[in-house]
Amino acid sequence: MLETLKIGILGGGQLGAMLIRHAIDLGVNVSAMDKDPQAPCSRYTSSFICADPTSYEAVLEFGKNMDVITIEREAVNIDALRQLEKQGVKVYPSPETIAVIQDKYTQKQFLQSHNIPVVPGVAIQGKNELYAIEDKLPGCLKKRRDGYDGYGVMVLKSKADIEAAFDAPCVLEELVDIKHEIAVIVARNEQGEVKCYDAVMMQFSGEKFILDYQIAPAQLDASILGQATALAEKVAEAFKLVGIIAVEMFITKDNQVVVNELAPRPHNSGHHTIEASITSQYEQLLRAIIGMPLGETDLRFPSLMMNILDSTYLNANKKDVLTRLLAIKGAHLHWYGKIDHRPGRKIGHITIAGDTMESIVAKAETIRKVLN
Ligand code: ADP
Repeated sequence: MLETLKIGILGGGQLGAMLIRHAIDLGVNVSAMDKDPQAPCSRYTSSFICADPTSYEAVLEFGKNMDVITIEREAVNIDALRQLEKQGVKVYPSPETIAVIQDKYTQKQFLQSHNIPVVPGVAIQGKNELYAIEDKLPGCLKKRRDGYDGYGVMVLKSKADIEAAFDAPCVLEELVDIKHEIAVIVARNEQGEVKCYDAVMMQFSGEKFILDYQIAPAQLDASILGQATALAEKVAEAFKLVGIIAVEMFITKDNQVVVNELAPRPHNSGHHTIEASITSQYEQLLRAIIGMPLGETDLRFPSLMMNILDSTYLNANKKDVLTRLLAIKGAHLHWYGKIDHRPGRKIGHITIAGDTMESIVAKAETIRKVLN
């Protein structure tokens, strides 16, 4: 049955590529679609379609021969997915779930309506509206759509910052006094079975909102972790999700757990599950969307994941860097094979597995030195 099943992935980046690797283990057929002809997925399946996932016609054409459609990015054409669903194609996560999450403000409203704690925020159409609510500053301004890796996020300290603010539909959030940032990935299948991964804890680099490294399991109080897990499961139930969802949360200085944002697809915060968990997030997503039982989510050992970002240094010293990374004991390298270069872009990641958290955190220093 699995060998005749056709799964289509909208988006062809590294998350899709890792999904394909795991689909191969399950023997299912996978196609991927991305507008970049050199997207990572193009090297992983002979059924790669070069077309834009935000185009109605392209998504309809791609999906009509599939049994199941899933996503590896949120920027996809919702109307086409609704139409495909009417034609009998299974779309997981559902078009309605993706539509709510595509927009940071409707996402917030949805969570609030389900009594899930979020950072309070107001919607604005453009930066001129900020002057009328300048009493809400300092705040965190976020583009409602298409932000990623912090590119659609800026802190506004005072009225003086409004001039340089994004002039687009945004949400102005209260500035949170963040103690920790964590993420919990949760899976839910067609039968309503729910399984949660251990929380991971993020470490961000100072100047930009880009992840420096993350550790799993998060080194936090059991009661905070319990709250985080309960919230993540509540989110999956609220959407009646079929698939997986990453729930990013803040732990505030006064130990409140609030949801920051959602990603209903494989997520950067689950890369380590390939090596460190009994079932990876990728296999779990596949199990969920093809009606199979979910796999165990237990961690087999503590782990640390560091993204590798494109830089001129790395490009000039690639062989030396890769050789030194692969020499680190317990290191698993994932190189995405991206062909075009853009400084700051994620071009790989490295997962360190070890016996103790102390020993693997010490290795993060070694990795950082190799990468710079
Ligand atoms: P993206 O979708 O681009 O990843 P996020 O909403 O996750 O954007 O925000 C990026 C980062 O900005 C967060 O990881 C956090 O460090 C910081 N941030 C986001 N919202 C707030 C807030 N309300 N207050 C303080 N810092 C925030």
